[in-house]
Amino acid sequence: MPDVRSEALTASIARRVVDVCGTAALAIDEAEGRSTLSLDYGKCTGCGQCIEAGEGAFIAAGRVACGVGRQALVSRWDIEGGSEIVGEEAVLTVAAREIRAIVGGALNIRQVDGGSCNGCEAEIGALTNPYYDLERFGIHFVRLPSTRICCWLPGL
Ligand code: SF4
Repeated sequence: MPDVRSEALTASIARRVVDVCGTAALAIDEAEGRSTLSLDYGKCTGCGQCIEAGEGAFIAAGRVACGVGRQALVSRWDIEGGSEIVGEEAVLTVAAREIRAIVGGALNIRQVDGGSCNGCEAEIGALTNPYYDLERFGIHFVRLPSTRICCWLPGL
């Protein structure tokens, strides 16, 4: 299995290894003005093509750390910054990419309240605050234009 010497990683090397990887275990993500290289050990067959093409930036791994869950098999590196992206940030970056792959550029959600204690609305509001910042993943809660709002009450 390969490992990456992040200090030797360049944009041209990253593009080359992505091209030679026959299983798409390697991918470049250009989201949010930042280029990251991901290596999905769940897809990697250990063929060694990236080590051959990687000009020393790719080496044989002494050991591969595996945590719990599918996402734990994905490692990420900041190509320009020359560093590995670790922990929660890596999980969030993967989540953003997967969401964009499903919904495209953005997902707009209209939440309809059929009569509640407003606990749900409080939680939704919290998702958009600066701490959770849901919009960084391209997920937006939106309102309908007022001309399209209708009301239907069964039995009335
Ligand atoms: S070892 Fe082969 S399959 Fe694994 S990342 Fe490198 S090129 Fe892709």
